[in-house]
Amino acid sequence: MRVLLVEDEPTLAAQLRQVLLDAGYAVDQADNGRDAWVQGGVQAYDAVVLDLGLPVLDGLSVLKRWRSEGMSAPVLILTARDQWHEKVAGIDAGADDYLTKPFHTEELLARVRALIRRAQGLASPTLACGPLVLDTRSGRVTLSGHPVNLTSHEYKVLAYLMHRPGAVVSRAELTEHIYAQDFDRDSNTIEVFVGRLRKKLPAELIETVRGLGYRLVAP
Ligand code: CA
Repeated sequence: MRVLLVEDEPTLAAQLRQVLLDAGYAVDQADNGRDAWVQGGVQAYDAVVLDLGLPVLDGLSVLKRWRSEGMSAPVLILTARDQWHEKVAGIDAGADDYLTKPFHTEELLARVRALIRRAQGLASPTLACGPLVLDTRSGRVTLSGHPVNLTSHEYKVLAYLMHRPGAVVSRAELTEHIYAQDFDRDSNTIEVFVGRLRKKLPAELIETVRGLGYRLVAP
């Protein structure tokens, strides 16, 4: 899952980046509104964390521009304490949720997880496909109740597929949503991860749709 983090305060930005990376997200960053606006327009994100108080272009204007341009990624806004009108204006401008500073990073992660789920129409934090269950809170995967040990990249590929039940996901899409920007984005490595997943899970669970990509199917 790819997240755009927009925060101009360097210490907080660095802290949130690390928290998101540790949680397994690919993270892109912007520290002013103009860069955020451009970045959000050219890259598909699974979620955006947007501070409203930003230099060059304020966060509310960025959000309004995105929404008027059809950018549909879920957006969590960060608002200053006691600025209740910012929350109202932000939600009216197209924000999906808000957090008031200061906040606990666990709460940020929980809200980001929920936004990503709900964007795919998934209400429960536990995703299931037949005997395969993935808990988005703990990052644990079980098969018929037995734990499955996955590397972080295997987990990221599986989690992305499980967030899109029944959909065909291309290798390019997986690559785009899983790797950091500076990573060598060779889509062949996705094939390697899928191959490893098939050895750890029932092989028929991840179907190859020739020329299009992969689809998760309940056996
Ligand atoms: Ca700020």
